[in-house]
Amino acid sequence: MSQEYFPLEPLSVIEYVKQLDAVQSIFSADEDLTAEEIGDGNLNLVFKIRAKADPKRTVVVKQSLPYMRLVGDEWPLPIERARIEAQALEIEARLCPEHTPHVYHFDPVMYAIVMQNLDNHIIMRKGLSAGVQYPHFADHIGKFLAKTLGYTSDLVLDYRTKKEQVGRFINPELCKITEDLVFTEPYRPTERNAFHPAIEPQVLAMQANTAVHVEVAKMKEKFMTQAQALVHGDLHTGSIMINHNETVVIDPEFAFYGPMGFDIGAVIGNLLLSYASHETRTKDPIQQADFRRYLTESIIRLWKVFEQEFQAIWDHVDAINMPKGYQADYMLRLLQDAAGMGGCKMLRRVVGLAGVSDLRGIEDDTDRATAESLALNIGQTLLLKHSQINTIEALVELAVGCRPTYG
Ligand code: ADP
Ligand code: MG
Repeated sequence: MSQEYFPLEPLSVIEYVKQLDAVQSIFSADEDLTAEEIGDGNLNLVFKIRAKADPKRTVVVKQSLPYMRLVGDEWPLPIERARIEAQALEIEARLCPEHTPHVYHFDPVMYAIVMQNLDNHIIMRKGLSAGVQYPHFADHIGKFLAKTLGYTSDLVLDYRTKKEQVGRFINPELCKITEDLVFTEPYRPTERNAFHPAIEPQVLAMQANTAVHVEVAKMKEKFMTQAQALVHGDLHTGSIMINHNETVVIDPEFAFYGPMGFDIGAVIGNLLLSYASHETRTKDPIQQADFRRYLTESIIRLWKVFEQEFQAIWDHVDAINMPKGYQADYMLRLLQDAAGMGGCKMLRRVVGLAGVSDLRGIEDDTDRATAESLALNIGQTLLLKHSQINTIEALVELAVGCRPTYG
């Protein structure tokens, strides 16, 4: 066990893994291992370690740095985020093991998590860009959302445990990133904002729209003040690893006690980003309609599964006598929060610092502007109309009614 923190490298990570008791069942004491660093994360170091003799015996090591990996030490970040991630993974594994990576070990000195290598899964965003349909995704994620959100809320936890959990998951610096990048910067001209020059008039119009500012302020207030449940905090399609049969949620370092709608909206908003990207990614009208139908049906289904799975939690609550009508009101508020916050999550990917490959990866310049223009219109519509949405079908109808302003 190391006594002091140091950032791992492909050579030292092998030595590091070898001395861990927790992986003795995977690697034998003196066998040769290989390590590669995967470079697609923004914040942390991630290594894949394999047995040379049998690459199927493998683990992932994820280590926090005291700064953001992508930007370097001019953007310091609390290294403690690894502890938050490890604690959140532990809770998710207890509530929903089938959709959580298995954690072998957390090292509080090295801020390193040794976990299952999801070698047979890909990042969902990449699959969606390629037009791949995942038939069980909606059922899986609906269940994951219901269990992780419901069972960490006041509906289930006793008064003291709940407050202790809020305390364990205080995550101010990572929340501040969301407050800035999702709920503030896209709506005003700032140096860090990046967007396609062709959609500038549309961006400026959004930034000049007072109604947009009012609705964003309401969403931001909710994000900052509503300690409703332990949310994942970054549940976009880049935090979901998937294949035909399995869906696993990774990377809960942004976890904190916040509004449930933030996670639900992140999933819905990211499916709609993919929907917008296929405006130009898929030109064949039949293929395009088919894939978009998959996306919208998934949104409807994931909400319905979420509602259904949440019923178990209401049954629990009924035992302590909730007033009639409260359940329906609560579920409606979750839907409307998901719409409003999901809209913000879309807008920041078009206007903000960190884009998504669904859109920014579209090669043709005009095609990219067209898809981004559509994403902006869907995001803005959901944000402006969230409080009038009464059903998941109505949410989808509002989204599919949008068109790109250009192209
Ligand atoms: P960051 O927080 O730095 O964004 P992530 O947790 O998102 O890091 O991981 C970065 C990348 O590493 C992911 O996009 C994925 O490709 C890969 N990765 C992370 N965890 C695993 C895992 N358990 N199994 C396989 N690949 C993983
Ligand atoms: Mg991350």
